Amino acid sequence: RIVILRLGHRAFRDKRITTHVGLTARALGAEGMLLASDDPSIKQNIEDVAARWGGDFYVTNDVNWKHEIRKWKDAGGKVCHLSMYGINLPDAVDEIRQCEQLMIVVGAEKVPSEIYDLADWNIAVGNQPHSEVAAIAITMDRIAAMDPLKNQLSGGQLSIVPMERGKKVIERQ
Ligand code: SAM
Repeated sequence: RIVILRLGHRAFRDKRITTHVGLTARALGAEGMLLASDDPSIKQNIEDVAARWGGDFYVTNDVNWKHEIRKWKDAGGKVCHLSMYGINLPDAVDEIRQCEQLMIVVGAEKVPSEIYDLADWNIAVGNQPHSEVAAIAITMDRIAAMDPLKNQLSGGQLSIVPMERGKKVIERQ
């Protein structure tokens, strides 16, 4: 069970990248994303995709991030904050893989410094700056017990028939 907590989203600047954070997490098997900013269009866009392409990924808009972290930990979950300053993922992956309820936290601009203490792990996906989307994708791929690219999402109106060339999409009944 994996939930994403997205910090620091700025409504105009980060719209596309926050949408990609959610879509990537969904595609790789997260159950939902908590958005610690007020931008209902993100929820709308991602849940529209989920309605068309399956699964029941949710977005919760405008959460209080400290409250969500406390609630998650009180329920027995662990928190993994992704930051280029943290411990490199290959050195912690075996430990994180044991966790059954994981909240993955990513920032946009500079994150509040308290997050480094609140997190159970501060993890770098390599100690070079790159992207929250890449960091989530690599982390979810490395910690997964089974190949997340083989996940089939149930429900939805459309599904893809993979082809060597061209596009084939079928409408589900
Ligand atoms: N300049 C910001 C800072 O110093 O915190 C980071 C901006 S970065 C574009 C946005 C987010 O991407 C970070 O908060 C972090 O979650 C993620 N990120 C970027 N590079 C990363 C890395 N090498 N490892 C893990 N997460 C990374």
